[in-house]
Amino acid sequence: MSEITVPTQATAAGMDPELFETFLDQLRRYVRERLIPAEPGVIEANCVPAEIMAEMKDMGLFAMTTPEEFGGADMSVTQYIRVVREMAWAAPAYRAAVSINTGMFTTAVRKGGTREQQAEWLTRSASGEVACFGLTEPDSGSDSAALKTRAVRDGDDYVINGTKRYITNAPIADLGLIMVRTNAEPLPKNTHISAILVDMKTPGITIGSPDHKMGQRGALIADIIFEDVRVPARNLLGQEEGKGFLAAMQALDSGRLSVGAAGLGLAERALETGLRYATERKAFGEPIANFQLIQAMLADSKAELYAAECMMWDACARAERGRATLECSAFKMFATEACGRVVDRVVQIYGGAGYLAEYDAERLFRDARIYRIYEGTTQIQQLVIAKQMLRDFAART
Ligand SMILES: Cc1cc2nc3c(=O)[nH]c(=O)nc-3n(C[C@H](O)[C@H](O)[C@H](O)COP(=O)(O)OP(=O)(O)OC[C@H]3O[C@@H](n4cnc5c(N)ncnc54)[C@H](O)[C@@H]3O)c2cc1C
Repeated sequence: MSEITVPTQATAAGMDPELFETFLDQLRRYVRERLIPAEPGVIEANCVPAEIMAEMKDMGLFAMTTPEEFGGADMSVTQYIRVVREMAWAAPAYRAAVSINTGMFTTAVRKGGTREQQAEWLTRSASGEVACFGLTEPDSGSDSAALKTRAVRDGDDYVINGTKRYITNAPIADLGLIMVRTNAEPLPKNTHISAILVDMKTPGITIGSPDHKMGQRGALIADIIFEDVRVPARNLLGQEEGKGFLAAMQALDSGRLSVGAAGLGLAERALETGLRYATERKAFGEPIANFQLIQAMLADSKAELYAAECMMWDACARAERGRATLECSAFKMFATEACGRVVDRVVQIYGGAGYLAEYDAERLFRDARIYRIYEGTTQIQQLVIAKQMLRDFAART
C-alpha cells in the first residue's frame, strides 16, 4: 500500500481536483487495509511503528499543506480537512503524528515566517521531520497569553528558559514552534508573546517521560524543559518580536478544523461499528436493530454527524476565503461534542460489551474525550463565538 504518494500538481485552489479524489480513494483504502489492522500493535507498543511512519513520509502525508516550491502538495483547506477526516477512521495516533506538521506548524510558518524561514522549515517539515507546537505550560492553558517561558535576546541568539506541558509529539519531534515571552510585562494585543523555530536537538532541551493518558495510545505527549537553550535570533518567526500570539491564533483556526474533522471521522467509525453490532446482536429473539429505541440512537447520531459534515464543508470554504474564526470554533465545538454523544450511544448499543476493553466501542469512547479539550476547550470555543457575535452586533448597531 505504501506506493501511494500525494501528487503535487497544485492549482490556485489547491491540488488538482481529479488527482485529489484519486488520492483520497487510495488513502481510504490505506486507512482500511493497513492502518486499522495495525491498530493493536500501536496500542500495545504505545507508538506508531517505524515502518508506518516511513510509509506515511514516503506517501507525502507530512507535505500535504506545504507549498509546491518547498516540496509539498499545497492542498486547499477543504482538501486537507477531508484527508484528516479519512485518517481519523483509524487510531488517532496516526493523525497525531502527521497533523502538527500539516496543521499548526505549516500554517504558522506560511502565514508568519519570512521567505528564508519558509524555505528552511517548511522543506524540513514536508520531508517528514516531525514537528511539535508548544503553547501550553504548567500554569497556562486556556489563558495562553499568561505563558511564562522566556526568550531573552543575547547577541545573535535568543536564550530560552521555561517549561511547556502536554506537548503532542514532544518525545519524537525534530522541529518545534515554541511560543515564548519576549517581554517580561504583558503588552497590548499580547505582543509580549513571540514564536520561535527550534531545532529540538539543541543543547539544553530535555523531554519529560510521555504522560499516561485516558486514551489515544500511541499519540505521545510530554513536557519540554528549556534550560538556557540558545536559538539563533534569525529563527524568530517573522523576525519580529510580538508576532507570536497572532501566529498561534491563526494556527489554532487550522488546528480547530483539524480536530473537528478528527472528531467527525472517529464518530463515523464508531457509528458504523454500532450499526453492525445492532444488526448482529440478538435480544428477545431478534436483532436489537429492530428495536425502535436502538433505531433512535442510530438516527440521532446520523443526523448529528450530517450536521457536523455540513459545517465542515462550510467552515473550510469560509477559511479558504479569509479568516473564519467563528465558524472554525463553531465546527470544532459542535463536531467534537457530537462525537462525544455518538461514542456514548455506541457504548449503550453494545450493552455490557461496550464496557469491555476487548471491543472497539470502549476504546473509541476513551479516544474521543480529548477532542472536547485540546485546541481550545468547548468553553473557550463558546467564548470565541460569543465575542465575535457581540463584535458583529456592535458594528451593525
Ligand atoms: C492529549 C493532549 C494533547 C495536547 N497537545 C498540545 C500541544 O501539542 N500543544 C500545546 O500547546 N498544548 C497541548 N495540549 C494542551 C491543551 O491544549 C490544554 O490542555 C487545553 O487548552 C486546556 O488547557 P488547561 O489544561 O490548562 O485547562 P484550563 O485552562 O486550566 O481549564 C480548566 C477548565 O476551566 C475552563 N475554563 C478556563 N478558562 C475559562 C473561561 N474563561 N471561561 C469558562 N471556562 C474556562 C476550561 O474550559 C476547562 O473546563 C494538549 C493536551 C492534551 C491533554
